Amino acid sequence: MPEESNEFKSALEVKSGVNQPPAVNRLALAKLKGKRKSLYTLDDYITGIREGNRTVLSQAITLIESSLPEHQVLAQQILTHCLPFSGNSIRLGITGVPGVGKSSFIESFGMFLISRGRKVAVLAIDPSSSKSRGSILGDKTRMEQLSMSPDSFIRPSPSAGSLGGVARKTRETMVLCEAAGFDVVIVETVGVGQSEIAVHSMVDFFLLLMIAGAGDELQGIKRGIMEMADAIIFNKADGDNMRRTHAALSEMRSVLHFFHPSESGWSPVADSCSAHSGEGIPRIWEIIEEYMQFTHANNFFNQNRLNQSLQLMHQTIETSLIGHFYKQKGIKKLIRQLEQDLKNGTVSAYTAASMVVESYLDQSYSGRIDNE
Ligand code: GDP
Repeated sequence: MPEESNEFKSALEVKSGVNQPPAVNRLALAKLKGKRKSLYTLDDYITGIREGNRTVLSQAITLIESSLPEHQVLAQQILTHCLPFSGNSIRLGITGVPGVGKSSFIESFGMFLISRGRKVAVLAIDPSSSKSRGSILGDKTRMEQLSMSPDSFIRPSPSAGSLGGVARKTRETMVLCEAAGFDVVIVETVGVGQSEIAVHSMVDFFLLLMIAGAGDELQGIKRGIMEMADAIIFNKADGDNMRRTHAALSEMRSVLHFFHPSESGWSPVADSCSAHSGEGIPRIWEIIEEYMQFTHANNFFNQNRLNQSLQLMHQTIETSLIGHFYKQKGIKKLIRQLEQDLKNGTVSAYTAASMVVESYLDQSYSGRIDNE
């Protein structure tokens, strides 16, 4: 153990032959001195994350979510260092309309996993959250027990940005959580719109929560989303709802037979649970473990993760290029001018588009890129 300076020495007598822990936690000290963000070095971040320190992990995620260039640079360095320690978790996507019981389910399921020795991170993708001020996970009290457990980490969706941006940040956050030792990462999203496609593209297993008795239209679930699901779980299988759930379950099981076989070769499973009573929760974990065995055996697991990374790379290239393109002063001006020409009927859409792209390429190749 390295010698601490006198300033930080413990007042307790040091027994010879016994290694003393450092009297002062440097990270805690940084916090006390205020301005803690700027006092964390890259090493502090990496060490803190690798030790599973949730405060440091949170700070690092804040850097990922920040749009300040200096934060982005540091965030990318942290990510690069964490990448070799990532990938070892089971990544689960959970979707379902508001009110279906996602938070209650994650609370119950998360606590079950923790009782099995797992460490659980819960992230959210909710592109609507900037408008609705966080419709999911905003209120941590909805997962009261889980949020208090030292083996959990709960992080709401970044509050602003496009779905693409939020999704990228969630994937990067996932890497940090894995490096911090969380071995089940749950990504939650609201089962409406495009966000579940984004979640599906970053997880190993996709779970759709439903409730019996409400029609598909009522539940806002599109068939495409059902077809992405590896398991469809009817929540609230308790009390008066039991009978309805049994009926819905057998109907769903017969419907599933008509679905196209999924790419993984896995046949989607329908089951039920009660987030309130905990009934059925262990079975859901069994289903996920069966899926993991199945997809490891046929190599879909690795192939899928690789495809997801390739897809992410291409998406990132596209969004970076488009962002760069539209930032060019000259391009903006030219587009505005050509829009007018198009309205006047003096140029065709195709010619206008070609002129803009050629102008951009000319600028790029002649090194005249003029960022605003
Ligand atoms: P979310 O909007 O999908 O996150 O749903 P919540 O977890 O907030 O749950 C919505 C409502 O359903 C709340 O009033 C919960 O108490 C209730 N709920 C959730 N799970 C269950 C369950 O297993 N059984 C019953 N009876 N109610 C539940």
